Amino acid sequence: MSLLFTFFSKIKQFIKKYKKIFITLLSLWLSYVALITITIIYGYFVIQPAEHVVQHDEYASNNGYEFNLGMSNVNLIKAKDGYLLIDGGDHKREDAFEGMLKEAGITKKDIKYIFITHHHHDHVGLINHIKEESNPIIIMHKDAREPIEKGKMDLSLIHNSTKRAAFLMFAFGHAGDHGANNNSEATTFTYKDIFITQDNSTILRSIGVNGNIIVTPGHSNDSISIIMDDGRAFVGDTAENWMTFDGTCHRPMNITNEAELKDSWNKLMSVGAKVIYPGHGEVFNVDELSSCMNQF
Ligand SMILES: [Zn+2]
Ligand SMILES: [Zn+2]
Repeated sequence: MSLLFTFFSKIKQFIKKYKKIFITLLSLWLSYVALITITIIYGYFVIQPAEHVVQHDEYASNNGYEFNLGMSNVNLIKAKDGYLLIDGGDHKREDAFEGMLKEAGITKKDIKYIFITHHHHDHVGLINHIKEESNPIIIMHKDAREPIEKGKMDLSLIHNSTKRAAFLMFAFGHAGDHGANNNSEATTFTYKDIFITQDNSTILRSIGVNGNIIVTPGHSNDSISIIMDDGRAFVGDTAENWMTFDGTCHRPMNITNEAELKDSWNKLMSVGAKVIYPGHGEVFNVDELSSCMNQF
């Protein structure tokens, strides 16, 4: 009994001696728990907002739709014999995509063309699902082909654009659909698919879409964008509009080359882009790019 008493009094003395250290460790642990809790709440309610369909009304004669598929957006533009889908979203969003197609009165068979802004998994995830019922012509950069065929993102040159973005990528980890560990399903291409290597002003017009394709590297080597004659610019991740507190100011969180990204932004501004439709976040005015440019 006295042995037990001595044991407890020794523990008591030990705690008393290192009280400050215990309190510090406890506060650090509580802060960590609080940070993770805030992260999870933010991740679910802010980063992945309610999924919805928005009709393109501004500048656009109502000929298109934006589907907000959780974190990633995809857009549909009326083409001459069906629809052009811009980007293929995340494969985890198949049900949401189906629901939105129904809401917009479009079927998967109506999707005659798919334009892929770049190979990342959150932009190509629904291609196989669409191909189950449709036989679309896929338009993408030549360098997107290999990683999409393998279903594996090319992360060789990728890095975070700001220190805050690096911390957030670390803190959010799996919470973001754009996490570096996520890969897509392998997809096959055929002779009819189109691989872009430079700016092109004829392909879209030949399918009844009044716009041009421009190469816009910087977020990835294979990034390409669509600039419609009416000023709508579908840019994938060349510019983003989510997690705006991360200090990136419309820059993507991940980039491969900042100088190229800057050139791509200048190009977007010089070819008549008025409204930016980013792959992540809400639509915004192109003027915001020029004010963000000072922060590069
Ligand atoms: Zn991306
Ligand atoms: Zn993305």
